[in-house]
Amino acid sequence: MKKILFFLIIFISCSEEGDEESSQSESISPMEIETIAITPDFDNDSIYSAARPKILNSYWTAFVKSAALYDVDLSNIEDVTFISEDLGGSTAGIANGSCEEYVLISVDETLFRNLTPGEQIFLMYHELGHDVFNASHDGGGLMAPNIRSLEYDLFQTEVKDFFTKVDFIEWTDEECEFIRGVTDN
Ligand SMILES: [Zn+2]
Repeated sequence: MKKILFFLIIFISCSEEGDEESSQSESISPMEIETIAITPDFDNDSIYSAARPKILNSYWTAFVKSAALYDVDLSNIEDVTFISEDLGGSTAGIANGSCEEYVLISVDETLFRNLTPGEQIFLMYHELGHDVFNASHDGGGLMAPNIRSLEYDLFQTEVKDFFTKVDFIEWTDEECEFIRGVTDN
């Protein structure tokens, strides 16, 4: 959402009164409007900026709000859990609820807190995409498998394409069986 501040500067200069030369007309300078645009980014976006790395559940709040922008209602989903655990040093997050009825995201907070705000949002939206929608990596975009630094506008496009199902492919039944087999171990 673009926030634009308008600064309105009006210069009005009046003609001198009482001037005997009645032919002198009033001079009013044109109105000057100066526009300053604030570049939208992860740290000033109204949804993303409310997410806090130390409050993992705040990413669920953000995800629900982003979905609502595209008329996807997730407000009825209650079984959502984030657990903090050591994931071995190179993995910041894991979706444990793919192909399951619940949402269960593991987060290695030591790694997670060192990511940029854009990477944190990307990671959480990606993992929630797996658990909430059973989305596979084949959809690309938001569900492309690597954490990467994303430019804000591109990320907005990816989020939109995900929730509007432009870039969205579900795990197949066979993939789900495999995934459940892995997570059950
Ligand atoms: Zn993934």
